[in-house]
Amino acid sequence: MDLRDAIRTIPDYPKPGILFRDITTLLGDARAFRRSVDQLVAPWAGGKIDKIAGIEARGFILGGAVAHQLSSGFVPIRKKGKLPHTTVRIAYSLEYGLDEMEMHEDAVAAGERVILVDDLIATGGTATAAVQLLRQMGAEVVAACFVIDLPDLGGADKLRALGVDVRTLVS
Ligand code: 5GP
Repeated sequence: MDLRDAIRTIPDYPKPGILFRDITTLLGDARAFRRSVDQLVAPWAGGKIDKIAGIEARGFILGGAVAHQLSSGFVPIRKKGKLPHTTVRIAYSLEYGLDEMEMHEDAVAAGERVILVDDLIATGGTATAAVQLLRQMGAEVVAACFVIDLPDLGGADKLRALGVDVRTLVS
C-alpha cells in the first residue's frame, strides 16, 4: 500500500492556487493510519523518548498515537491563547501568514529527549519555531517526524541545517 493513495488533494484551499494535502482520508483509513504511525515510530522503538511534542492540530492526532506506541508523554504545542497555565511563546511565519505558538512552561524538563510530530512540513516555519521553543526549554530534540514532505518548499532542509534529524514518510 502506498500512503500517497490515502492522502486527498484539495485544490484552492485555503486560498486560490494552493494544493492542500488533506490527511483526513488517511486518518479515516484504518490500514493507512496504522501504517503511518508504525513507520513514524519504527526508528525509535526500544529507545528512550521522554516526550512527543505535537503541533496543533493534526500533530495532536499523529503525535498522540506515536506517544502511546513509544510509551512517551505527550506535549501539545498550540496556537496562542489556548493553554490554561503559564506558557512560553514564539512568533513565526507560516505558508499562509503570521502566527504565534506556545507551550506550557513546565511541559518539558531540561535534558528530556523529545520528538516533534506534525502531519506535514512545507516551508518549515512552523516546525522551526517549535524546535526553537523546545530547545529554549532545554529539551534535546531527537528528531522531527512528518507524514508528508513538500520538498520544493525546502522546510526539511532548513530544519536539517539547524541540526535536526528530519524523518518524513512521503514526498
Ligand atoms: P510550514 O510551516 O512548514 O510552511 O507549514 C506546515 C504547517 O502548516 C503544518 O502545521 C501543517 O499542518 C500545515 N500545512 C501547510 N500546508 C498543508 C497542507 O497542504 N496540508 C496539510 N495537511 N497541512 C498543511
